Amino acid sequence: MWALHTSVANRPSWHLGGRLRDAVYWAQELAWNPRLTLGDVASREGLAPATIRSYMRQARRELFGTISDSAIYKRDRRWKDHKRPDTCAEDGCENPPAPKIVREDGLKAGQWPKYCREHGTPTARRARHERRAST
Ligand SMILES: [Zn+2]
Repeated sequence: MWALHTSVANRPSWHLGGRLRDAVYWAQELAWNPRLTLGDVASREGLAPATIRSYMRQARRELFGTISDSAIYKRDRRWKDHKRPDTCAEDGCENPPAPKIVREDGLKAGQWPKYCREHGTPTARRARHERRAST
């Protein structure tokens, strides 16, 4: 169920607006509680079941694009296997690495940035290459 894997979504679920954020919550509720039905949620929220379903579908698309449930599940497993490095890979830098940036197609899934924001820029990368070339 996609709603239980929002930690590996293309963007954080709190970026979603109003009803779509509710929809993530509804989907999680439904995933956690097998006795809860779409109809229960609908009557509680005062909405039609079809409306609830449509919000949930939109929220899923916002978070994961069009990838399948099994692709979402695989991505979750893959990312958990890769521990995030504690600090930037630049010598002497104690900053945490930059947050993960995920491409829409998920190709970069499973890779954590090695450098912090400051040392991950193209300028910093060029400086590293020049330093290495001169020693
Ligand atoms: Zn750094």
